Amino acid sequence: MAQIDFRLVQTAVMGGRDSDQPVILPEEPHNLDEFRRQFGKDDFWCGTLLGGCGERLMTKRYETKVCHFSHFPDRDGSRAACHRTANGVDSADHLFIKAHVTQWLAGQGHAAQAELCSLGHGPGDAVDFVLRATNQRLRFELRPSDYRSWRGTADSLAAKEGHVEWVFGLESAITRDMTARYGYALRVRCETDGNSRRVVIGTVTENRPVAWSSLEQCRMTGDGLITLDLEELRGRGLIREGAARHDAVAGSLPLRGAEIVFAIDGEARPDTDSPLVEGGRYLISGFIKPAGHRILRAQLSLPHDTPRPTEQYVYQLAGAVRLLVTEADRPGESTRWAVRADSLIQLKGLDAERTGLWRPPVALDEPLPAPKPATRPAPAPTTIPPQSQASRTATVLRQALEDVAREGATTTWKQLAERVGLDLAHLPDPKRRDLLVEVDKPRDRNRSLLCVLVRAPSGRPLSYLATVLRLLQVSAPASESALYRWSDEQIRAAHTAYGNRTPPVQASAAIAEAARPAEVRAVQEQLTLLKAQLAVGRATLPRATGRRAARLATTVKDCEQHQRLYESVQQRRQELRLWQRESERLLDDLDRLIGHPLPASATAKNSTPAVPPAAKSPSRRDRTSTHSRRRRQQTSPVCRSCSSRPATPTT
Ligand SMILES: [Zn+2]
Repeated sequence: MAQIDFRLVQTAVMGGRDSDQPVILPEEPHNLDEFRRQFGKDDFWCGTLLGGCGERLMTKRYETKVCHFSHFPDRDGSRAACHRTANGVDSADHLFIKAHVTQWLAGQGHAAQAELCSLGHGPGDAVDFVLRATNQRLRFELRPSDYRSWRGTADSLAAKEGHVEWVFGLESAITRDMTARYGYALRVRCETDGNSRRVVIGTVTENRPVAWSSLEQCRMTGDGLITLDLEELRGRGLIREGAARHDAVAGSLPLRGAEIVFAIDGEARPDTDSPLVEGGRYLISGFIKPAGHRILRAQLSLPHDTPRPTEQYVYQLAGAVRLLVTEADRPGESTRWAVRADSLIQLKGLDAERTGLWRPPVALDEPLPAPKPATRPAPAPTTIPPQSQASRTATVLRQALEDVAREGATTTWKQLAERVGLDLAHLPDPKRRDLLVEVDKPRDRNRSLLCVLVRAPSGRPLSYLATVLRLLQVSAPASESALYRWSDEQIRAAHTAYGNRTPPVQASAAIAEAARPAEVRAVQEQLTLLKAQLAVGRATLPRATGRRAARLATTVKDCEQHQRLYESVQQRRQELRLWQRESERLLDDLDRLIGHPLPASATAKNSTPAVPPAAKSPSRRDRTSTHSRRRRQQTSPVCRSCSSRPATPTT
């Protein structure tokens, strides 16, 4: 029975049924004429390497439709049926890849053995190039397979032959996996070029279109196939050198950060060599506790600009929180994991204690803060003559900072460096810290602090200000927000002491805004309350004993100082708000210290000043709201953008 072939076969091989020399038939008749002059008419085969029957093919010329190869008619029906399924222009791409890549490798001095591999569909499934000298296999996987089959092949090839360099025909779950693991994947495609097909290599990266370069623009190296784009990405540090030879980048699963708390393990050494270390991040060892689950020893991955957690706090994980996992890719390897977070929220006091990861180191009443320098009015400053052992740099810095104070300004290390003409901008933080300590030494309580005038580029206090103050034996608030307010007060004190009456330059825009009448009224009410509570505090003082007496004395002095400050801030909204917040804190302290049981006669003594009833005993509701407000402040997220650190002393 005669069969008519309706297939438009566009590729063939030349030189015999099992040949690997591919050819494409031109579609236009005038091109076909030239093709016939070049290649003749009768050496075209439905090649076995094309999945064909091995019979001879003829070229068919048409004026009105595309030219193509065709099987000779099987007039007596004696030939075996042809089961070739791929007939299009790309149906011989595996043979073009085999020829062109062999030539390309040879051009770079690589002797390679090329093999066509069937993955179950036919000889065009994959093309391998085995480079014995460098123990590499370059595989062009043209037919997509499912992830599990591919992974099985990849693992067994890697175990047998060392490194396998993968180039994929199509975008798939596998290329996406490679991109996630190593930062990139390679793809291949062919483009018609006369009677041949040119090989083009694509670099696949996340969030970018595939970048294609011709084979001639690529190199085969010990690190694998390097495209132009890969070269550029490696140059910019976006992809590791020899990425695909390293351990894969860890995979990740989303977690609910709000339900996980973390505390550092001060004893554990940081793991710098872990495959879980990512660019721009650091790992820290400690313990995590997911809500409702047991505590686990774990590593936490944090961005470099997140302040390093300290033992003083427990932290709640924030931002995008994920579980990082590495697979055991090689025999003998084990899976490793870490938790990755974008930022941390400090938990203190009860919130921290409830996690079971932290206990207060001492009872609340234990340490007595020394009187704050701000509680005493600063007399006219005198420049302290530098000590003989003081470095010249510190002397120069001190003079520069005195100038800054006179100008009513603050400064940064960069500006200071320009001002004094010294290379201070590149000093490490510990060195800067020591210089600032030297500037304010010897500490004289009647002299304003100059170190507070140096601020971070963000305008916030320096991350190591708390350490400087501790080394100067200056008692300052421990919490970050309180330290911020406190250092603002110190800056104002320095400006005043050095003769400047104008508000700080950097803050002038923010504080120029006048307070609204309602705000002024609210603050005035608070001032009244403060005065009244202060009176109660003073009256209580003679009867208080021990630590409580000392704390009460300090708080009373703080309140007096704060009350005086009101006159200078009442016109400016921003400062007024800060003043109000600080009042809340002081009232809270007074409330607690006065709230201790007193002898019944204490308030009845005739020396007790008259106290408005409202101030005698702040209502339970007020106290609760003040406490809960303070707790909310304690759990404010660590600010990542300004790189500020918790205000706990670190060295
Ligand atoms: Zn055939």
